[in-house]
Amino acid sequence: TKPPVTVTVTGAAGTIGYAALFRVAAGAMLGRDQPVHLRLLELPAALGAAEGIAMELDDCALPQLASVEIFDDPRAAFDGVQQALLIGAKPRTKGMERADLLSANASVFSAQGKVLGEVAADDVRITVVGNPANTNAAIAARNAPDIPRERFSALTRLDHNRAIAQLAGRAEVPVTAISGITIWGNHSATQYPDIFHARAGELTGAALAADRDWLVDDFIPTVAQRGSAIIAARGASSAASAANGTIDHVRDWALGTAGDSWTSAAIVSPGVYGVPEGLVCSFPVRSDGTDWQIVEGLEINEFSRARIDASVAELQAEIAAVDAL
Ligand code: NDP
Repeated sequence: TKPPVTVTVTGAAGTIGYAALFRVAAGAMLGRDQPVHLRLLELPAALGAAEGIAMELDDCALPQLASVEIFDDPRAAFDGVQQALLIGAKPRTKGMERADLLSANASVFSAQGKVLGEVAADDVRITVVGNPANTNAAIAARNAPDIPRERFSALTRLDHNRAIAQLAGRAEVPVTAISGITIWGNHSATQYPDIFHARAGELTGAALAADRDWLVDDFIPTVAQRGSAIIAARGASSAASAANGTIDHVRDWALGTAGDSWTSAAIVSPGVYGVPEGLVCSFPVRSDGTDWQIVEGLEINEFSRARIDASVAELQAEIAAVDAL
């Protein structure tokens, strides 16, 4: 049997953490033949809840779960970590300005980045889910200069999966018939779900995009504002689908994407597609099971260019706001 992989989940007792941990422990993320050491990092106030989750994990008697440990100290939780899922973040509370949210999380993610740089395993991979995810990932990466920048990523896979589902519904094909979708930019309302290179069964995304009213007034806002629609309907934010996106993201990164198709992930820009170097921006990506590779050479039309630029401008403003603090 394979040696266990050490997986640390922050914000483990939160709603996304709760939805993710059982599937990670059951092998949905790294494979059913891959044992895992699970580390749950929580704030001191949530340690009781984390204990309860650890008890439930025990009670699943999962064959691949080699161990479960609980921490409130990031240094101990990240010691030797190979897959770090940074889900915990300070939520935006009533009356809080966006700058306050950025600064509260900048301090969390700069501290976690520093510690990761000091104690993580040499092969560590880091996935940021906690919002503002792109900028939190950029801050963590900056604070860990000894970790190669391509090891940091932020989640846009949930947005990607939402776009697949919407396009499949429109084209009346199964989700398995959809390929070539890209989420560009920030994991926020400015994200741009691009279908111009997509296929939906026999149809091309470009043909579907010819109905501009549907594209502009329906598809793009439905994908970008899906989180708010779920809060309105369910009275709570999307946790199971966010956990599912996280698991899909890490699985594709660690085990590789299939064939020619691609997925979306926010990674540190090497300065391609007009995205300034260093921003953590969502791109079309494939993985060979080790690193993400940006899909090169996609033609960006004027419609797409304007929307990518708008989301990139927001990423630049977020980083500038953090730098100003
Ligand atoms: P959730 O588990 O629901 O969400 C965690 C983070 O994921 C939030 O920042 C949330 O952003 C973000 N997120 C990203 N994508 C999505 C999506 N599609 N839908 C919903 N959320 C998304 O939050 P909880 O408050 O339930 O749990 C957070 C936990 O983190 C708490 O247990 C807390 O104790 C812990 N925590 C840990 C910290 C640390 O380890 N240093 C720091 C702060 C908190 P958004 O807020 O925009 O919804």
